[in-house]
Amino acid sequence: MTTDALRKRLKSYYLQCEQINASHQEKGCSDGTPDLPIFPEECRGMTCGAKTRGGTPCKRTDLLKNGRCKLHGGLSTGPKTLEGKRRSALNTGKTYEELIGAKSKRS
Ligand SMILES: [Zn+2]
Repeated sequence: MTTDALRKRLKSYYLQCEQINASHQEKGCSDGTPDLPIFPEECRGMTCGAKTRGGTPCKRTDLLKNGRCKLHGGLSTGPKTLEGKRRSALNTGKTYEELIGAKSKRS
């Protein structure tokens, strides 16, 4: 199996887990954890494989859902939908519209 195929396998595994967890929460089962699929055996010991600054492939094995390590997986790019931006803005104690208004006044 190529590393690309392995990475896809890992992604689909985590997607399956997410779906099962979501349906578990929908049902309102607050007791215990749902039965999750078994971790794909071929994905054990998988390395990140991203190109490092030294030009060698990254050897870290602590991978995120995207199949890369914490150093190469990248950060969240923040909310994309208007609804998400509004929800995120509430954390600052202001509404999204207030924040946008404050931004345009400054510049
Ligand atoms: Zn890495």
